[in-house]
Amino acid sequence: MSNETSKQFLEELLITPSPTGYEKEGVKVWKTYVDQFSDEVVTDAYGSCAAKINTSGDVATVLLEAHCDEIGMVVQHITDQGFVYVNKLGGSDSTIARAKKVYIHNKKGRVVGVTGNTAIHLQTTKNGGGKEPAWKEIYVDIGVSSKEEALEMVQIGDPITYATDSEFLNDEILTGRALDNRIGGFIIAEALRRISEKKKDLKVNVIALNSVQEEVGGFGARMMSYRFMPDVALVTDVTHATDTPGIDQKENGTVLLGKGPTIQHGGANHPKVVDFLEEICEKAKIEVQHEATSVRTGTDTDSIFYQQTGIPSALISLPLRYMHSPVELCSMEDVEKLVTIMVEAVMAMRPDQTFSVFDE
Ligand SMILES: [Zn+2]
Repeated sequence: MSNETSKQFLEELLITPSPTGYEKEGVKVWKTYVDQFSDEVVTDAYGSCAAKINTSGDVATVLLEAHCDEIGMVVQHITDQGFVYVNKLGGSDSTIARAKKVYIHNKKGRVVGVTGNTAIHLQTTKNGGGKEPAWKEIYVDIGVSSKEEALEMVQIGDPITYATDSEFLNDEILTGRALDNRIGGFIIAEALRRISEKKKDLKVNVIALNSVQEEVGGFGARMMSYRFMPDVALVTDVTHATDTPGIDQKENGTVLLGKGPTIQHGGANHPKVVDFLEEICEKAKIEVQHEATSVRTGTDTDSIFYQQTGIPSALISLPLRYMHSPVELCSMEDVEKLVTIMVEAVMAMRPDQTFSVFDE
């Protein structure tokens, strides 16, 4: 499969909505792609998808994981005048919710709307001018004048996403809505594709898992990791690049865009898996950065590592600017390095690979 095919896959993944709890369309794109080079692809009751490359029943199993859902909004209430009030899905930011074009996704397709913004000339503090709006103040105008008309187009519970396209700013830098974490879905699919091409040298079983409902609590990853109980999990998600104006690096760590993925230390990150990854990066001369996890990683790693008797796990993160906004920004060089780390790590694993803190 050519680079052109993977580029097309990335584009399709990024234009397809996958709001948390309503991920089916996004997962379908991912599934269709991995079906081409996997031995087996399964979905579960809630829609997470796992693609497997099987070596033998007697060898260790490695899980590569990324969540497939994106943050968004949901239709909460429709007024008599046909204005559609919303609530957030996951950690959406109300300060940037106004004056945006949005898509409301219904069973038949999508409805275009705009989030209302009172003109600057007419703003008073009473209608939200100059202060951070609460979600209950955000509404979508879909161009109708009554509740009846609105209800012909949308219904309570329909998910909403920003109508932002992804675009390359140059050869390296990609911007788009919810790169968090469709870009992770791309990374694990791409890693699996490259592993499938080296199958004769592969000594372990591999599962790439695109999990639903991370943004609301890491639920899809929990269901699937409980089911498969892999011997080790390599998880990827985005992390905050802290190299833009106004971010205190002393408080938030130093993470630069384009300077390599970050290896996370502490918490759910198993020390032996972290050591293993560091060795892989050193050998393959892949530039990485480091981050300390104080309590939780805030990713699916937190859901995976403590299943049943424990799954040694490690998080390798992709630096991202402007997280949870319609203009997130990442470096494709970091993406490429992250894919390489996953491929090299999996290919270096032994058939009897285990990770235990007290192993020498
Ligand atoms: Zn994420």
